[in-house]
Order: sequence, then C-alpha cells, then structure tokens
Amino acid sequence: MEAKKFELGDVVEMKKQHPCGTNEWKIIRMGADIRIKCEGCQHSVMIPRREFEKKLKKILIPANPVTEEQN
Ligand SMILES: [Zn+2]
Repeated sequence: MEAKKFELGDVVEMKKQHPCGTNEWKIIRMGADIRIKCEGCQHSVMIPRREFEKKLKKILIPANPVTEEQN
C-alpha cells in the first residue's frame, strides 16, 4: 500500500466532512498527533497520526507543490 505524503500547511480532504459542511482541512501541526483546522469554520481538531492517515482521502492543495527538476 502506498503511503500518502502530507506535510505541514497542506490542505487535505478527509473521508468525512466536518459537520459545518466543509471538507477542507489545513494541517497546522505535525507530530505524534496531527492538528488540522477546518477551512470552513476554523475549528481545529487533534487526531493521532495513524488515525489521520486512515481518514485522509486526498491532498487538495500541497503546501509545497512538487516542481520538475531542472537540468
Ligand atoms: Zn467546520
């Protein structure tokens, strides 16, 4: 199984949207626990990294988009 790559500042989509109706979360802290903030209502939640990885659906906006290497 391929691990999803996420990093601080990424805006991600989770498998479940927030009760406010938004499904865009910004990663605002990384550690053993991940803190994400709802982009709709600014509510933030802390979840264990393992659980975050399970609930993560996709990265919407990478904080650092991969750029092609220049020769
Ligand atoms: Zn919300």
